[in-house]
Amino acid sequence: MRLFAFRPRYIINGQITTTKVAAVANVKRKNSPASNLGDLDALPLELLHAIFAMLDFKTLSHIQRTCLRGIAVVESLPQYRDMIEHAPKALAALGQTQLLRHHSAAALHAALLTSECQCCGDYGPFLHLPTARRCCFFCLENSTQLWVIPVSQAKSCFNITNSQLKHLPVMLSIPGAYQVRGSVSRNRKLRLICVGTARELVTQEHGDFMSELRAKRTDGRISVKDFYQYRAFRSSPLSSSELKLRPLSSRENSAIDEYCGMASVPFPHVTASLAVDQGYWCLGCQLTLQEWYRRTLSHEDVSHLIPSPCTRRVDDQLRDLTRRARSSAELLEHLPQCIRGRSLETMEPSLSCWRKM
Ligand SMILES: [Zn+2]
Ligand SMILES: [Zn+2]
Repeated sequence: MRLFAFRPRYIINGQITTTKVAAVANVKRKNSPASNLGDLDALPLELLHAIFAMLDFKTLSHIQRTCLRGIAVVESLPQYRDMIEHAPKALAALGQTQLLRHHSAAALHAALLTSECQCCGDYGPFLHLPTARRCCFFCLENSTQLWVIPVSQAKSCFNITNSQLKHLPVMLSIPGAYQVRGSVSRNRKLRLICVGTARELVTQEHGDFMSELRAKRTDGRISVKDFYQYRAFRSSPLSSSELKLRPLSSRENSAIDEYCGMASVPFPHVTASLAVDQGYWCLGCQLTLQEWYRRTLSHEDVSHLIPSPCTRRVDDQLRDLTRRARSSAELLEHLPQCIRGRSLETMEPSLSCWRKM
């Protein structure tokens, strides 16, 4: 696989790259042999596991601090064990962003065991922290439903009240440099909300807001920039599959992601055979794009790589291929169709610069 794949630094490092391991794994053991779980001790281990799986990691770590029996039950919980073993950095990121208490161990574990982006169905090498959903780079870049915005902006855009705000996961950003749809650098910690989660809440409670948005602009209560941002946030499709088959509309394109990469983290996938897949980016597709830009490939050469019907520009389609992660099995299936993927073995010495990425 090393011959055919690389991990693009601009994609991986453009998101949360915390190196701190999850503090929840380092629990001091209580010495009292009499410590127990009280009434819960009467329950069989299977039932305790079913109950504990519905708890979040913060609560589980509190239970571990109460008694020896708590430590034993939590540490034997498959959802806990797998997340600590395979995704400690994702847990650390959830802790640092104060989102840990919003997701059950079962929800995070379900994301660990699935490989598909929950927006479009392609391989998803990232975890979207506010929703605990697996996602891909394309959707992080183009689906405003995965974007995050400051609490004040969310309140203005979706008319969220303070009591509604209590039901939404509010994350605390980690200062640093990020890059997905654009590049941003933030030194301050910000309170951010997921656009899709906010939209779902208000759509359920109040219906369509578009006419009200127009009125706000007419009255001068919001700026022109905010009008276009809010319009994109309120009207973007909840699924990204549709976005992949057409050019972005001016409405979608007008939105600017000022907090890109701040709510996602690389996330491994644990396969049915318990192998750990981090996602592979095809080196052949990268070389194909370079040759396309150098005009050494024709439309005919690349036509089989472009989905049909498709109205997106060839440049965009080929660029999307370089950004698309695949499982090891998907990459092996893709290589025979990949123009430069087929010849990677014979080109190996000249590719070392890419493999260092
Ligand atoms: Zn996707
Ligand atoms: Zn390829």
